[in-house]
Amino acid sequence: MQYHISTGLVIQHFEKDCNCPLCEMEKIVEANICRELLADGCMDDDVRHQVNARGFCLKHFEQLYEMPSKLGLSLQMTTRMNTIFKTFQPVNSTRKAKKQAKALESELTTCIVCDYTQKEMVKYYKTIAQLFDKEDQFKQMLASSNGFCLKHYAKLLEYSDFAFFSSAQYLKALYEVESNRLNKSVELLQAFSNRHDYRNLGKPLGEATNALPRIKNDFFGKK
Ligand SMILES: [Zn+2]
Ligand SMILES: [Zn+2]
Repeated sequence: MQYHISTGLVIQHFEKDCNCPLCEMEKIVEANICRELLADGCMDDDVRHQVNARGFCLKHFEQLYEMPSKLGLSLQMTTRMNTIFKTFQPVNSTRKAKKQAKALESELTTCIVCDYTQKEMVKYYKTIAQLFDKEDQFKQMLASSNGFCLKHYAKLLEYSDFAFFSSAQYLKALYEVESNRLNKSVELLQAFSNRHDYRNLGKPLGEATNALPRIKNDFFGKK
């Protein structure tokens, strides 16, 4: 196989025995974006303009705060506050207060790191579909993977047309790997619940011990 930069990251994570290869890749993408935002992004007018307009969500603010460049984050947040102060104004009527409440709430729902991450991840969703179309070896890798969290499974479905003539085969392969995963989770949840029946008191939980963390990962991915 000839790997491009983006296909290299895909192969590397599909070869690993991991919970969701796309969650792992997304973590790398997010970390790179955060690093760039606090380094060159502080100086780049276009980036500053976008941070000004979109800001950060709680998750990414905390991720940025954990990084060494506190000055970078402070500069970005100073810029961001210019936008907030355009909305944060004295109001003299309840009608205007309700309007401002909506405007302030919507400022809390946008994030430049989420925007950049989504844009970057779309390239990987497309690459995965294209690899399935072109590489037999990759079909095997997908078939023997552990499936995906539901968010990333949905994204792979959304971009499945990039597998072109192999789309139907790709959808079937995705469904098989995902249904194995979800059926196993349901089986473990049932086993976990059954062990709490008084007739089963004292019996070991075995694999079912992880039933709830496992279903959490199925729904929300691994943080
Ligand atoms: Zn995931
Ligand atoms: Zn975010």
